[in-house]
Amino acid sequence: MRVRIGIDLGGTKIEGVALDAHGQTLARLRLPTPRDNYHGTVATIVEVVRSIEAALPADLQHNHAEPPSVGIGIPGSPSPKTGLVRNGNSTWLNGRYLGKDVEAALGRPVRLANDANCLSVSEATDGAGRDCRIVFAVIIGTGVGGGITIDKHLLEGHSGIGGEWGHIPLPWISQAEFPGSQCWCGRYGCLETWLAGPALSADHLRHTGQQLKAQEITAAADAGDPAANASLERYEDRLARAFAAIMNVLDPDVFVLGGGMSNCQRLYTNVPKLLPRYVFSDFVDTPIRQAVHGDSSGVRGAAWLWPLTAQEEAENVT
Ligand SMILES: [Zn+2]
Repeated sequence: MRVRIGIDLGGTKIEGVALDAHGQTLARLRLPTPRDNYHGTVATIVEVVRSIEAALPADLQHNHAEPPSVGIGIPGSPSPKTGLVRNGNSTWLNGRYLGKDVEAALGRPVRLANDANCLSVSEATDGAGRDCRIVFAVIIGTGVGGGITIDKHLLEGHSGIGGEWGHIPLPWISQAEFPGSQCWCGRYGCLETWLAGPALSADHLRHTGQQLKAQEITAAADAGDPAANASLERYEDRLARAFAAIMNVLDPDVFVLGGGMSNCQRLYTNVPKLLPRYVFSDFVDTPIRQAVHGDSSGVRGAAWLWPLTAQEEAENVT
């Protein structure tokens, strides 16, 4: 049986998990991230992999013919042209050959993907999108990211930015919304500046003068506050527009939501009702579902960067 090790490289912790072909956890470990220390980060990733391997059940430890595969979820993404990490907020990784350096230290190939892509692979493999062919998964938290999985395989795209919907502009933008705030990427009106948790806070502040966090706005709306409800209605319409633009290009079988905003339950009933206003189709019934693996989507998706083989799939079904 093949063992898959997934590593979630975060700004504060490096978490690792070993999964069997059924997605069951065989071993798990978490170590602090050596911040601003690139070589320390590589060494810690290797330590997590080695320690997890040592903690595997004895019959799985010495399969030299097929050592565990290793996938790593990172902030940012590896450039398919140069192999260098780019666009990450853990800036000490940017401009580094992280994949090659970990491969050299471990002596086996590793796969790297950004955290939203890992969410997509995780949910497509054995989560909210397990019954779907085309999964568009998004992380909506302090930032906004997305990933596309087709038949449980990640669609990275020619430039390695497949699914990066956070930095496209808000579609069907109104006069009142135009041009939007400036994004950290330098452009105006990116979806991230409308849909991230802090963006909901900023929109609520603009309309009410009230400074509340995203989850406080959600709680106030649930308690019947009309201004908070209005802010969420604006938010839901923007999310519907953003999803409709994706539908008109990719037409996924499901949208999966992760990140802090995915806990806002009204999105799952209200946003689907708004989609027909914007989607170019005679019917719209694409489901929007909450991610089922929560905070584990990073490690699990990293492990599933090595997808199930046809043989494993057949064995899992029977
Ligand atoms: Zn942007």
